[in-house]
Amino acid sequence: MSDDGLFPHGALVGVLTAEPLDRLLTYKAPVGGCGTGDFVEVPLGPRRVLGVTWGAGDTDFDPAKIRSITRVLDAAPMREDMRTFLTRAADYTLTPMHAMVRLATRAPGLGDALSMRKVYLRGDREPDRMTEARARVLDAMDAFGDAAVTLSELAQSAGVTSSVVKGLVAQGALREEESPRDTPYPRLDVTRPGLDLTDDQAKAAAILRQGAGRYSTTLLKGVTGSGKTEVYLEAVAACLSKGRQALVLLPEIALTAGFLARVEARFGARPAEWHSGVTMTERRRLWRMVGEGGAELIVGARSALFLPFRDLGLIIVDEEHDTSYKQEDGVLYNARDMAVLRASLSDAQVVLASATPSLETWANAEAGKYKRLDLTARFGPSDLPEMRAIDMRDEALPSDRWISPTLARAVTERIAAGEQSLLFLNRRGYAPVTLCRACGHQVGCAQCDARMVEHRFLKRLMCHQCGETTPIPAACPNCGVEGKLAPVGPGVERMAEEVAKTFPEARTRVLSSDLFGSARALKAEIEAIAAGDADIIIGTQLVAKGHNFPLLTLVGVIDADLGLQGSDLRAAERTFQLMRQVAGRAGRADRPGIALLQSYQPEHPVIRAILAGNEEEFWRAEAAEREAMAMPPYGRLAGIILSAPDVQTVFDLGNHLARNDAALRRIGAQVFGPAPAPIARIRGRHRVRLLVKAAKGAPLQQALAAWIEGLKLPANLRLSIDIDPQSFL
Ligand code: ADP
Ligand code: ZN
Repeated sequence: MSDDGLFPHGALVGVLTAEPLDRLLTYKAPVGGCGTGDFVEVPLGPRRVLGVTWGAGDTDFDPAKIRSITRVLDAAPMREDMRTFLTRAADYTLTPMHAMVRLATRAPGLGDALSMRKVYLRGDREPDRMTEARARVLDAMDAFGDAAVTLSELAQSAGVTSSVVKGLVAQGALREEESPRDTPYPRLDVTRPGLDLTDDQAKAAAILRQGAGRYSTTLLKGVTGSGKTEVYLEAVAACLSKGRQALVLLPEIALTAGFLARVEARFGARPAEWHSGVTMTERRRLWRMVGEGGAELIVGARSALFLPFRDLGLIIVDEEHDTSYKQEDGVLYNARDMAVLRASLSDAQVVLASATPSLETWANAEAGKYKRLDLTARFGPSDLPEMRAIDMRDEALPSDRWISPTLARAVTERIAAGEQSLLFLNRRGYAPVTLCRACGHQVGCAQCDARMVEHRFLKRLMCHQCGETTPIPAACPNCGVEGKLAPVGPGVERMAEEVAKTFPEARTRVLSSDLFGSARALKAEIEAIAAGDADIIIGTQLVAKGHNFPLLTLVGVIDADLGLQGSDLRAAERTFQLMRQVAGRAGRADRPGIALLQSYQPEHPVIRAILAGNEEEFWRAEAAEREAMAMPPYGRLAGIILSAPDVQTVFDLGNHLARNDAALRRIGAQVFGPAPAPIARIRGRHRVRLLVKAAKGAPLQQALAAWIEGLKLPANLRLSIDIDPQSFL
């Protein structure tokens, strides 16, 4: 029970639930009373729902009609810093509070009583006969590692019936054990010595240690391999030794396996994990343990920010520029910005780590709002790879070929030297366009304004917007002529074909997110590559992340111009970051690397800045451009997307909003649009976008709220507001 605002039995309490109601519900405190922030179960109509006590109840109701809180859950109450965080995050993102509560209670069975349950462990015997189903169960067991796993979770993840699991128990290959639910996580030993740090690293670590336990934000900038992880683990050690909890946010599940092993090597135990791949049982355990202090270090995806930490003292945002930190569905928030907000309310330290920070973070450091630490050298003898453009206008390339003779020669040399090459193309599938050579029609998605992408591996066309797939048609859907449909342009699958023709002897692997059924299969693939089991790797942005391939010495960027097209505000920034990261894959061990960028416009300022390796110059130029246009981070933007099945309805409402913009003009903001959103149709819904632009420091959220207040939305029309939009889709 919390220590503030105790409500005695029968007192009126305001309860916030995750139900879509825009107010507190009033209940009577149960026998024994309750405090502010308690997790409770309350009756709502015929149901019982989870809620959080938020303050005094409304005394305007007839007390005889007010029902009682059913019970107070046996969980640590939501603390004041968390309640303030949810309120402030809701205000910032213009999200209703019930949606924030939902984010903060995303663990199943929170209301269940604590009890014993059966968990499964590896036994010491092998099964007498290894069937395919049995092998899958044992594989799944290995994947769960030390995590507690129940019968249904094990059977489900292995895709077998529970009788297969029971059979393995009977054989002694698995053991059943009664285990208490929700036990604390193993303690990390922060007194163990870390690696011997280089001077650069030691200096950065000392500064982070000095700042431990107090609110501040630091940009930790260093090229891939410079030891940022090593350095921020020192900040983790300092935080934990003060008895506070630490959170490490990572952008991609594929990365956590390597990270877990590193934490274990450093502190003798693994951290707790929070992401979509974690079982329900573990999620619940973690949620509870975080609140009670039974979990010290949590590594997770962005939603881990909404866990009920007992005493959060440090948040690391690794790869802080990564676009996956922006939630693009439901509550639209940027986890990097929310991490800074959360830390400021909990007096916690924030470390934003990146080789290629976002312009926002770079500008905050430049303005002195954030501290900045630079790790300038890579650890060990390896240096940043040399980068060169291949001017595609000078290369003799037959049509339907994308590997220039210059790049092909470089790859051949690597194969001869027993080294690896990475061919990078950020396009999944076989070909981005399917064209009818009879009528010129490009096959599009029936639901969206997007072209269907051929996935030869799956033998289907797929829409990358909505995921719709269809068999590859024999005849053109437009003119009906057969045998004239042709793939246009390359995807990674098509690159694999070209590689097989050009380098028939080479061992090739394709790394693309859609080719792997599970994070585990992907991890196995990455390990095999790291061990040298490939000469040529063909990959999408998946490989741009922090994997370490020691034999990799050549990166060939198939289409360096790809990110420069389009109207996205951040196109230049994204291209710059991606190229730097991909190039950072080359030459990590003791061999120097080289990156070759195929481009039709090598004189483009972004390509030139990448090649010159002059990052500060790139950012200064980009910052000046944004400042001149008063664009973020030197101005503020909000996107309003209206969508409905009927195109007229969305435009009518968009026009109505654009005309009635007094609330926005009062703060000097401008409205642009309505215009068709860059993707004008998704899943059969027409989308129209308004962009609101305001000066930095203008009270944009209040003005937006006033603007749409009282708006009657026609049935079927959806309005969503995106503060600081990242993608302009
Ligand atoms: P980053 O996070 O900047 O990509 P890492 O911390 O992952 O860099 O370091 C890259 C590699 O170099 C890792 O394998 C790491 O263990 C190793 N490394 C970094 N610093 C040291 C050091 N001081 N002593 C030994 N190995 C180090
Ligand atoms: Zn579609």
